[in-house]
Amino acid sequence: MTFTLTPTYEDNPRLQDLVGRLRDYLDGELADYEAGLGLGPESTYTRAVLEPVWRRSRELGFYGVHLPPDQGGQGLTYTELAALKEEVGASGRILQHSVLGDMGGPLRAGSILQYATDHQLEKYLLPVIRGERACCFSLTETDAGSDVRALRTVAVPEESGGGWRISGHKVFSSAGPFADFSVLIARMAPEPGAPDDAPPVFSAFLVDLDAPGCTVRPGETPMSGEHIESDIVLDNCRVGPEQLLGDVGDGLRIGLGRVTTNRLLHCPTVLGLTRRALGLTLDFARTRQVFGAPLGALQSVQHKLADMTTAYYAARSMTHDALAALDTGGNPRTEAFMCKLFVAESAFRIADEAVQIHGKAGLVRGAEIEWIFRRLRMFRVLTGSSEIQKNGIARDLLSPSRT
Ligand SMILES: Cc1cc2nc3c(=O)[nH]c(=O)nc-3n(C[C@H](O)[C@H](O)[C@H](O)COP(=O)(O)OP(=O)(O)OC[C@H]3O[C@@H](n4cnc5c(N)ncnc54)[C@H](O)[C@@H]3O)c2cc1C
Repeated sequence: MTFTLTPTYEDNPRLQDLVGRLRDYLDGELADYEAGLGLGPESTYTRAVLEPVWRRSRELGFYGVHLPPDQGGQGLTYTELAALKEEVGASGRILQHSVLGDMGGPLRAGSILQYATDHQLEKYLLPVIRGERACCFSLTETDAGSDVRALRTVAVPEESGGGWRISGHKVFSSAGPFADFSVLIARMAPEPGAPDDAPPVFSAFLVDLDAPGCTVRPGETPMSGEHIESDIVLDNCRVGPEQLLGDVGDGLRIGLGRVTTNRLLHCPTVLGLTRRALGLTLDFARTRQVFGAPLGALQSVQHKLADMTTAYYAARSMTHDALAALDTGGNPRTEAFMCKLFVAESAFRIADEAVQIHGKAGLVRGAEIEWIFRRLRMFRVLTGSSEIQKNGIARDLLSPSRT
């Protein structure tokens, strides 16, 4: 496929049609909706602002588009879903996360559908797919990030009823301010008489955020200035046996489950935002006049643009290569580590050069490129830091099973 910053997808008519309609919605109706509300990337908003976007995106077929047709989707391949994720990322829309269901919607629910009982599907997950309920995911705690096994939130069995009482403090639950329930990972209290060195057991629970003993507090504001994080504080919060997701002991498998897929699907969001940075920078280089000519006439700026776009092309190509392997039933585990590492690191370098080319116009609060720089910086840590990706690559390379 010939390289263009804005892909055309002529080789895939279904995707071409979807992308065309998605761009129309993002640049038209959704842009108008945001402008009407005066939203900026650092605005504080409520769920009432998001619900119309969930509903409209569902009507237009975008919300949960990746799901199978019997769940209201179009059964997209991973590569097709990535193309749509890149589009929303590149759109510059504030509420882009609510169009395909990243923010508390079907994409956030992700792979847990496969663990759900009929009751859990009916009460929790199908309403999420319909845009009627929203969820968040709570694994991280102040002292447990990369090292998830350090988490302290504990589930103590009830004397009767077969349920548990959960106590602990989760931080950085994205979408928490808008969510009805959390997919929350807790450590099971040790069995009476268990040895001190018994390995910890973790389980996943569907926790209603309005349940007695559960408090949702505003979370920390990350450097992107977005107000979408929550702390979730549990104090003897009761969960019934019907709220256990999967089996006791499945917590980390569910929490970290489908990591290869999730890691790869994180990349197109970053690529989309990077594409936006490139587009803004090209526009700036064409229009900004220095010494009587456009900035883009300077060879030093041209070289920067060439390097930035080449890095973007490499990052995008390797991501699509790994996604294609997933689509054909492969397990591109090492490749997913490499993609997350390279996409996040190159995005940050591209954003830095984009700010450099913008000069003072890129350094002021309120400039879109300045916000993108801050946003892209976070991806080197989020969803598995670059160091953790390198650990994974090296572990795979050094594994005795590798020839
Ligand atoms: C905006 C935002 C949104 C988030 N959303 C969610 C969410 O929805 N749900 C959720 O559960 N969590 C969420 N998180 C938490 C996120 O997943 C963690 O921040 C991430 O896993 C890293 O953990 P940490 O920040 O505690 O860093 P730490 O684990 O303390 O790591 C600190 C540094 O040490 C490095 N390091 C750690 N261990 C190793 C190692 N073994 N080898 C080499 N280097 C290492 C790391 O790479 C990093 O550079 C979010 C965080 C942010 C900032």
